[in-house]
Amino acid sequence: MLEYLRALIRLDTSNPPGNERVATDFLAARLGAEGIASVVLEKEPARANLVARLKGGGGAPLMLSSHTDVVPVEAARWSRTPFGAEVAEGCVWGRGSIDMKAKGAMDLGLVLALSRAGVALNRELVLAAVADEEAGSELGARFLVERHPELVRAGWVLNEAGGFTLHLGGRRYYPIQVAEKGYVTVKMTVRGSPGHGSIPRSDSAIAVLAELVVRIDRTPMRARLTPLMRRTLEQLGIDPQSAPPLFRAMMANTVAPTILRAGYKDNVIPGEASVVLDGRTLPGETAESLLGELRGIVGPEPMFEVLKCAPPAEGSADTPLFRLIAHHVESADPGARAVPWMLPGATDSKFYAQLGATCYGFAPVRIGPRMPYGALYHGNDERIPVDGFLWGLRLYTEVVMNFLGLRFEQVFN
Ligand SMILES: [Zn+2]
Repeated sequence: MLEYLRALIRLDTSNPPGNERVATDFLAARLGAEGIASVVLEKEPARANLVARLKGGGGAPLMLSSHTDVVPVEAARWSRTPFGAEVAEGCVWGRGSIDMKAKGAMDLGLVLALSRAGVALNRELVLAAVADEEAGSELGARFLVERHPELVRAGWVLNEAGGFTLHLGGRRYYPIQVAEKGYVTVKMTVRGSPGHGSIPRSDSAIAVLAELVVRIDRTPMRARLTPLMRRTLEQLGIDPQSAPPLFRAMMANTVAPTILRAGYKDNVIPGEASVVLDGRTLPGETAESLLGELRGIVGPEPMFEVLKCAPPAEGSADTPLFRLIAHHVESADPGARAVPWMLPGATDSKFYAQLGATCYGFAPVRIGPRMPYGALYHGNDERIPVDGFLWGLRLYTEVVMNFLGLRFEQVFN
């Protein structure tokens, strides 16, 4: 499976442009060689999604999902070739090693191993390798859920964003993603008096917008602790009143200005200025409730245009699968604790959840206390420790096998 990971890293699926078909070709060939058929669907040329399945009993199907695209690289700022998949200093280096070709490799390997073993599964096992997650999933999970729901409808989904070691206050935790925020990307435009640059005026669109952007930045949005986050903070021993920024983002809707636009000539005061706001909604909130809150901050004047949006999602941490994950995590790293987690960002899980699936972020990897794990996501020098990958692989295998009604020894001898 380490070799599958290295092979996947070498296939450049930077999005844009994506070109995920190179990855699905690789997966389809490996599956096809062992008699497993794949369905490959593209909403746009070369933006391929692959779904394969192993038959099973009547339990609610389990889907193992990963996205095959990666974010682009600034190659000059890497210390090793970003698509070289070198093994050095105890790590496999390369874009996608963490986010998220490691899980893709594990998923492929598990499906092949189960097929070879010829064992009976208590439920159907679905493998999904999808495109375009890094650019909003329009050509990937969202496309499949909206246009081909029968292919990706499952009772349970294991996806990214969880199962890594979180070192906090001298203790080890393993966040398991149970919830994720929604997003509402809004373009906010203000109008002002245009004029000649030689005669400044205080009611120009730029001045009005600048004041509003500062106001948005300085006005905290209403804090609300969901029951899940209360449990997470309690388990981590974090006081909500003094939570660090990452956790504060899990306790409120948020809005961050990301793109400013105004002006077209250096001696013309423009009549219009706009800002793109990256809004994120808590579970239980809607695009409308976030826009209402934003309206309360900026007043009635500015125009809002929603550029894109997707709802939040929240599952339950009180399920047999969550308990199974927690049990195996805590056995694999004695003294550590599995904690339910809300992702402030977005994954494909929010789309699968629309079809009724309970989704967990569980792509396990053990990370040492000195590894800058968070910075590796979309960062330079992305890499995964080989021993941490193998540790995660064993853990992941135990969880998946058990949930399919099997013991490890029935598949691997
Ligand atoms: Zn990802």
